[in-house]
Amino acid sequence: MSSSVRETIEQLIRPEIRALEAYPVPPAAGLIKLDAMENPYDWPGALPEALQAEWSERMRRARVNRYPDPQAQALKARLRPALGVPADMEVLLGNGSDELIQIIQLALARPGACVLAPAPTFVMYEMIATFAGLRYVGVALGADFTLDLEAMLAAIAREQPAAVFLAWPNNPTGVLYAPDVVRAVIGAAPGLVIVDEAYHAFAQTSFLGELPRHENLLVMRTLSKQGLAGLRLGVLAGRPEWLAEFDKLRLPYNIGTLSQLSAEFALEHGVFLDEQAANIRTERARLYGALSELPGIECWPSAANFFLFRVGGGRAATVHQGLMRAGVLVKNLDPAAGALAGCLRVTVGTPEENAAFLAALRRVL
Ligand SMILES: *Cc1c(COP(=O)(O)O)cnc(C)c1O
Repeated sequence: MSSSVRETIEQLIRPEIRALEAYPVPPAAGLIKLDAMENPYDWPGALPEALQAEWSERMRRARVNRYPDPQAQALKARLRPALGVPADMEVLLGNGSDELIQIIQLALARPGACVLAPAPTFVMYEMIATFAGLRYVGVALGADFTLDLEAMLAAIAREQPAAVFLAWPNNPTGVLYAPDVVRAVIGAAPGLVIVDEAYHAFAQTSFLGELPRHENLLVMRTLSKQGLAGLRLGVLAGRPEWLAEFDKLRLPYNIGTLSQLSAEFALEHGVFLDEQAANIRTERARLYGALSELPGIECWPSAANFFLFRVGGGRAATVHQGLMRAGVLVKNLDPAAGALAGCLRVTVGTPEENAAFLAALRRVL
């Protein structure tokens, strides 16, 4: 790059943005993809043929020369009962829950304002805080990646965060904090608490029903981990007063026509997603049994559709590469260091994919 462009970049682009790395997405062509918590069952490929035809017909009839419904009313009407949103609560849709995290943080980004979350957790909370110019505070998790409530309460009292993000269950650990511990955080926080239930299909428990009890609680869901990552649809549920403020930052037409129609269709036939999630939960138990028996591996129980496991002896990168050469892509979390040193994360796949992963892992170890 010419030196003058470099110089202009240094003058114009904020230093904290220059210091970032773009969110890394490794190439996965030809690999068994167990790195991103996707549902391994095709949609619509795993549907009966008549339903595949019906879905294609709806896509064919979509009028993509027109803007989508800016409020996605038909989709929201399907989502509310499917998720179990309490009657007095509102919903706001995002282009993935990533966009909702961004909207919330942009709205809160007063000078000096702070966002707080346990560490390690979902990396986008911190990345978006950097985008938005918010101060980010990570509070180390306790033993076995449970929430260190004492440390959380002390940090909340000290930092007075505008928002606390709790991934429930947490990514990348899979741990579901005890509900009373989450309630204690909600009760102590001077600002918003966002309970991020991205893995609800696998944890099967929710704070949605507690929205009426806590003025500062918001609950977030996504269709991504359940099986429709390609649609990019996140859902924020909470008091209408909060969501009316956030709605002002939502770009008009943020949910495309094809996504709206496909999500409506998926919810109409939600039984298929439910069956797939049940299969994945069964496979999760089998995979955990197999992983915890492997010598030289430490593995934690998970309420989500993935496992965090540690390989000893500074071998994480070697094991990650070895798995890749054997055709299996998992996530290497070792570069994050700290509590994640030596750790890899594997998504629960189909029985065949999990068997291939385990066979490859046994060889590599
Ligand atoms: C994957 C994930 C998300 C992002 O979901 P999208 O809806 O695909 O943007 C949000 N929160 C957590 C904890 C996640 O693991």
